Amino acid sequence: MKIETRAVHAGRRIDPASGAVTMPIHLSTTFERGPTGEYPLGFSYSREGNPNRRALEECLADLEGGTQALVFASGLAAATAVIQGLEPGDHILAPDDVYWGFRKVIAEVFGKAGLETTYVDMTDAAAVAAAVRPATRLLWVETPSNPLMKVTDLAAVAALARQAGPGIVTVCDGTFATPVLQHPLDCGIDMVVHSTTKYISGHSDVVGGALITRHDNYLFERARKAQRYGGAVPSPFDCWLTLRGVETLPYRVRAQSENASRMACWLRTHPAVERVHYPGLADHPGHGIAARQMSGFGGMLAFQVRGGAETAMAAAARCRLFIRATSLGGAHSLIEHRASVEGPQTRTPANLLRVSAGLEHADDLIGDLEQALAG
Ligand SMILES: *Cc1c(COP(=O)(O)O)cnc(C)c1O
Repeated sequence: MKIETRAVHAGRRIDPASGAVTMPIHLSTTFERGPTGEYPLGFSYSREGNPNRRALEECLADLEGGTQALVFASGLAAATAVIQGLEPGDHILAPDDVYWGFRKVIAEVFGKAGLETTYVDMTDAAAVAAAVRPATRLLWVETPSNPLMKVTDLAAVAALARQAGPGIVTVCDGTFATPVLQHPLDCGIDMVVHSTTKYISGHSDVVGGALITRHDNYLFERARKAQRYGGAVPSPFDCWLTLRGVETLPYRVRAQSENASRMACWLRTHPAVERVHYPGLADHPGHGIAARQMSGFGGMLAFQVRGGAETAMAAAARCRLFIRATSLGGAHSLIEHRASVEGPQTRTPANLLRVSAGLEHADDLIGDLEQALAG
């Protein structure tokens, strides 16, 4: 069935105890054993599993076309669970513009774990091939990337990893694309990570993450153990809220893509704008791959204002409708000066503003940008 249908039905069932159409929130931490000690419904203790969590996992596995999913207390908890499965001496290949929180986890949490990481331009196949080592175990991709919207050819990266040997697990952070616009597992990628905080829950009211796998693999099993024994679990209410958000995911994402596309086209002709980063624009370096690999270009864009950091900050400060806040994927349009969020080591241009298109009308959004850029 189509994704709109699966977004509403996958993982859900009528509550057998009440007939409730919407799943109840199961707050119970513990579940009754049968007379001989078994767990007849498969739940024992809520750190190990919970009906709301299971429903969300089944739904997300279905939407991504995977066989299994794990949901976490945050997107970075999902990424961390993958990294926890690596061993001292293992090598990670990650994009040079990977989500900055990923770099922080590697440096600040796993700094003494004996892992080696190379950051490479994932859009350059030759550079990726040259950076693979015998010890490479994890190839991390993020597309479109944050905040420059670089697009990586998922099928090419997956093929390259397979050729390099059976020991490399490929993972795509698909947060910006969502399971509506892109299917990394169909491109041969082994696992997908999402920050469900963003589009999947979709209303800026719950933090969460997911890891979905195409097939059994050791890093997925180790992530499961890291969660079960390490305890980075989402609450039943978090799972319930996220699953509620998923019902409207395909419609929200398409509307947000439409809004982003209209803003990108408008911004591109504006004299105060130096450059627009949006994969839907024909002159974006990743446009051809995005057109092949995605069914829409997404709700995220970035633009560089003529001038420096102050000019960009001032334009954001004049916005009335856009909210100056981090994060993305919700109903409210957000604008953010990324370099100041990412700190002194950032690679993001100082005059760049990142925009998360919300669900307002595009005319109103463009009107707000117009007055903000007019100064
Ligand atoms: C937000 C985000 C994350 C981290 O997710 P959290 O839910 O904040 O932990 C990872 N990757 C991308 C692309 C993101 O936008």
